[in-house]
Amino acid sequence: MALQMSDAHRQFVQALLARGIVERPEAGKLHQWCCERHHVYYAHDKLDDFINVVNIQLQPLSMEIRKGLAEEDGRPCYALVNLAETDITKLACDYTESELELFKKTMDLIVLSGNGFASSTEILNLADQLKPKKMKKMEAEQVLQTWVQEKWLLEKEGEYTLHTRSILELEPYILRHYPDSARKCHVCHRLCIQGQLCEDCGITLHLPCLAKYFRAQAEPRCPQCKQFWPHHIPATGSAGSSLAQRSERSSSALRRH
Ligand SMILES: [Zn+2]
Ligand SMILES: [Zn+2]
Repeated sequence: MALQMSDAHRQFVQALLARGIVERPEAGKLHQWCCERHHVYYAHDKLDDFINVVNIQLQPLSMEIRKGLAEEDGRPCYALVNLAETDITKLACDYTESELELFKKTMDLIVLSGNGFASSTEILNLADQLKPKKMKKMEAEQVLQTWVQEKWLLEKEGEYTLHTRSILELEPYILRHYPDSARKCHVCHRLCIQGQLCEDCGITLHLPCLAKYFRAQAEPRCPQCKQFWPHHIPATGSAGSSLAQRSERSSSALRRH
């Protein structure tokens, strides 16, 4: 396969730039559409090869299309990630200083929460402490909605967590910035914002990772310390785990030790 970028590749990058992040089925459709439109060779199982060609060309620009898995149910996603800036300020071109400050403080709440969620009340209470300029609650509410629309945050029943897009973009920053609180999943070794914690040895697992891991075990025991795993184990498969996770989120909240 040619390593040259074609118009199909360029169009794919533009589409990702506009969307920020796409799930696997949409990435597949975009791949097909871009190839057919520009009469470029297309095979449905060659998406990763197609993306590799793009990534080689994006390297000098310090950008990359990165694949990640949604924390709640393991759905694969693709995001265009900026590798040059490793700080949260890379989002700055789109937001004012106060809005960025609110994003940082929201991220503090989410990462330090223990369960990966911050309530809208907690977030909106930060609005009048912002620097350089306070925000009205209504303004803060609007910017929260924008972040959900742009897939920086994910909202579930009035609680917010980091969207896969933020995790893909900000993983190194979060691991560096919260060395004592940010955890990596024991199975996949990626940053884990929403997950379950072993209260005996302190390891953390993503919900899809633990669902897969425990499926092969006769009895759920911690992969590290072998103590009985007391949390609800979500079913594997997208829909099942997503529903299971919603209902057990509050009961299996991670706790600091
Ligand atoms: Zn994991
Ligand atoms: Zn353990």
